[in-house]
Amino acid sequence: MSATQVTADASLRYPLTFSPFTLKNVELRNRIIRTSMGSGIPAGGLINDDLIAFHVARARGGIALTYIDPAKTHWSSPAFIDNTRPEVVDGMLRLTSAVHAEGTAVFQQMMHGGPTNIPQDGTAPWGASAVPDPGLGMVCRPMTRWMIDELVAGFVTAGRHAQQGGIDGIEVHGGHGYIFSSFLSPATNHRTDEYGGPFENRIRLLCEVLGALRDAVGRDYPVGVRLSADAAEHQTSGADIARVVAALEEQDLVDFVNLSLGSHYGRDLLMGGIHEPPGYQLEVNGDIARGTSLPTIVTGRFGAVDQVESVLGSGGIDLVAMVRATIADPDLVRKTAEGRAHLIRPCIACNQACAGGLNTRGRVSCTVNPSAGREIASGDDSLASALPRRVLVIGGGPCGAEAARAGALAGHAVTLVEAADELGGQLRYVRNSPHRKDLGRLLDYYQAVLDDLGVDVRTGVTATADLVRELAPDAIIVATGSTPRRDGFQTLRPWAAPDGFDSADVLTSWDVMGGAETGGTVVILDEVGHYETLDVAHLLVGQGRRVRLISRFSLIAASLEMRWDMIGAPNAKLLYEGDFEFYPRRVVTSVRDGVVTFASPEAPDDEETIAYDDLVTISGNVPEASLFEQLREGPWIVRVVGDAVGPRLLEAATYEGNQAIRSLEPGWVRPTIRFGQSGSAM
Ligand code: SF4
Repeated sequence: MSATQVTADASLRYPLTFSPFTLKNVELRNRIIRTSMGSGIPAGGLINDDLIAFHVARARGGIALTYIDPAKTHWSSPAFIDNTRPEVVDGMLRLTSAVHAEGTAVFQQMMHGGPTNIPQDGTAPWGASAVPDPGLGMVCRPMTRWMIDELVAGFVTAGRHAQQGGIDGIEVHGGHGYIFSSFLSPATNHRTDEYGGPFENRIRLLCEVLGALRDAVGRDYPVGVRLSADAAEHQTSGADIARVVAALEEQDLVDFVNLSLGSHYGRDLLMGGIHEPPGYQLEVNGDIARGTSLPTIVTGRFGAVDQVESVLGSGGIDLVAMVRATIADPDLVRKTAEGRAHLIRPCIACNQACAGGLNTRGRVSCTVNPSAGREIASGDDSLASALPRRVLVIGGGPCGAEAARAGALAGHAVTLVEAADELGGQLRYVRNSPHRKDLGRLLDYYQAVLDDLGVDVRTGVTATADLVRELAPDAIIVATGSTPRRDGFQTLRPWAAPDGFDSADVLTSWDVMGGAETGGTVVILDEVGHYETLDVAHLLVGQGRRVRLISRFSLIAASLEMRWDMIGAPNAKLLYEGDFEFYPRRVVTSVRDGVVTFASPEAPDDEETIAYDDLVTISGNVPEASLFEQLREGPWIVRVVGDAVGPRLLEAATYEGNQAIRSLEPGWVRPTIRFGQSGSAM
């Protein structure tokens, strides 16, 4: 690495991970890389300072190779970096020079979304045949000769611009349901010309593009391909991808293979969420990698270097991608190399602010790392305070813990007071979730980092106005969170609780996740439609309960930030493995004598009933801000943040905790930001 050396302990423990690798003629200092992702950070198709800072941070953190955003190759498929224009080269030169200075190589992916993307002029998407993509749903424009010629020329131009910009190598995106996938799969390629029918024809377009690129950039310049089995019935299988790899190797068209999994026909596999374990793609890709002599890259929710070492040890795999893990902590590699792995901020696979941020606001950030994608404006380096103070943080949930971390980094003397016996706030309950136990790692991280930074953490201490006066801080951050409501509130019926609700015994998500005993049939009334709902339903189904979920939403966990088929669908599938039924878009009208009565707003007279043993209400939380009101007048600066302002997402909690510390500085400007609109911080 540029400045930090790998300790002897780390070398012994991770000999494969910390061994160098030569990819064609590019020297990589270790085996951990970042493959391509759309970040939304580039502006107007060009590389900007924010994107440079994003990649420099990860390069400083020890990554061996980073991919910038995929290249737009033709007007028929927009992408964040417009490699069709020569102006892109200047920014690339600035980025590659800055990243190279940190000892990290830079690659770029050449992509064309084909059936999944609307062309820039709003015309129909390009594809092998007139088959709509299951996500976009628009019938494709089958590519004719001139379109194929333009596509090949577009890839050549884009590749040349990358090379001129100092990019060390390029790859063609041949998977994920994009243009080459649409030709490769017989299910979407219905052509009768030389690009359809037998395998040799369906692979022809990919071979032509790779061959033309090779000719344009020269044989010494690394050119690779990204491929993914659709992993869906009647679509491209792992065996098909192995055949593609063999054909490309035989024709000497690529220098490396980057293996992924899924497409728009198996979207839950693209970026595995809480439903997938680390390494979930290896079942398909391990054999493909071992079947080729080309250098290989694998990916799939890897979050720790132990996992990387184990993958490399399994043979046939040369490089491992850690994309989300290094959004969450850019210094993951460096901290491991230095023997400080306990201080790595873990990716929790929520997909809330990275891919979800791209989905909801067009730009990547991170739920657990408020600096991600904002390295210049909100990086840890910019926290240093001009006026160190005594800062009291009240509340040890993620918002308060982040405020304490940022405050200590800023140079303040920080005391954190938490009423419970441990940090975490409502996230403590998620430790009991069948599929989100990983969130507990975030709490372990905050405990470790606050210890490391010397924050005075006082758990089991209830903050009162008297205690605050006794501590006499200069600044107070009130992060007292929120509590679940039990009053039967419904968004679609805000004027009154269901008849009889006030005399019913109800449980909340906190009760259930905290270990409350329940009877055989449990009805969940869901107003939130987020991870909190999934946690409760998964736990109860796993305990063998008959679970009946009544929701105001049309889909299970409809508020999740990703497209429903990526996270909602696979989690719904897990629920249906038990005794589970879902009642979408319903409003509850009465709860009496162990029977809940409900109906759709569109057919209010068609009432249904369910007899239950226990009733769980997940209807949002109530802010707990009373201490803020008591402390507003005083000889201190006071801020209220996170759920104490209003219950929102976990991303908002960590972001506001961090911003609260910045807001203590003179000249601080209130940020303009938008989070996902609904859901819960749990
Ligand atoms: Fe990981 Fe969530 Fe951050 Fe994405 S937003 S990088 S999934 S922690």
